[in-house]
Amino acid sequence: MTSSAQLNPDVVVRFAPSPNGLLHLGHAYAAMVAHDFARERGGRFLLRIEDIDSGRSRSEFVSAILEDLRWLGLDWDGDVIFQSDRLDSYAAAAERLKVMNVLYPCFCSRSDLRQLQEGGEHPEGPDGPVYPRTCRDLDMELARKRARSEPHSWRLDVARATAITGPLQWTDERHGPQQGRPGLLGDVILVPREMPVAYHLAVTLDDARDGITHVVRGDDLFASTHIHRLLQALLDLPTPVYFHHPLLRDETGGKLAKSRDSASLSVLRSAGHSGQKLLQDLRQGIFPVGISLL
Ligand code: GLU
Repeated sequence: MTSSAQLNPDVVVRFAPSPNGLLHLGHAYAAMVAHDFARERGGRFLLRIEDIDSGRSRSEFVSAILEDLRWLGLDWDGDVIFQSDRLDSYAAAAERLKVMNVLYPCFCSRSDLRQLQEGGEHPEGPDGPVYPRTCRDLDMELARKRARSEPHSWRLDVARATAITGPLQWTDERHGPQQGRPGLLGDVILVPREMPVAYHLAVTLDDARDGITHVVRGDDLFASTHIHRLLQALLDLPTPVYFHHPLLRDETGGKLAKSRDSASLSVLRSAGHSGQKLLQDLRQGIFPVGISLL
């Protein structure tokens, strides 16, 4: 651990895995990039477990994450943070957004969405089809009434939100200055019907609450940052600097997935491999056969 006397207060970075599977090489790489980013600048490195999805999060995956990071030799500062301890703050922020009139209830079920998608009504976004704002056209008063008895999620009305905030900017240390494009992912869900809060809202609130100065994470979340920037503006939160790093890919060019047990760190750990050696290799850009950086 770095002693607090040596810490640079201008740099606070986090690694924020979701405990819904075993970590794989891609996570080792992501954790290493975030850790080294902090340490090279004399900053703090925090560990936040993003366990808001109680249906998929498992305590055994939390234990495996902590063991994997220790095995890799990546140390973090302070106590491990759990999003499940913060549900009240997410609910309060969602209420605030409702009062601002930038959330609307969406009654579309998964099969409704599938049908809309098959009917070609979803415009394509960088992360897949974008919601065609079907429920945005419902009468708001009626929709709020229905919301009292019918299952629903709450979506961000990006058009209304951007009308409040005006144009936004953010900076990525690797990709350069960015003009906000909050519409890229469409009207994302901020409060799902089966979960207390969605990733976008929880992560934005927590990065502010934890005093994160630099969000270091994979390129797969680059488009999401446009939404996070919009939420920061709506909720008067500071905007960190971002650093989206390249991702490790398998031989087919696909993203490494948690379900592919062969690449999991636990398997390597149990097989007696050295985590420190693996990390050393990753730092030097030496990857196992079939794995490359994209
Ligand atoms: N919890 C997210 C994940 O495991 C990452 C969140 C982030 O770094 O913003 O994919």
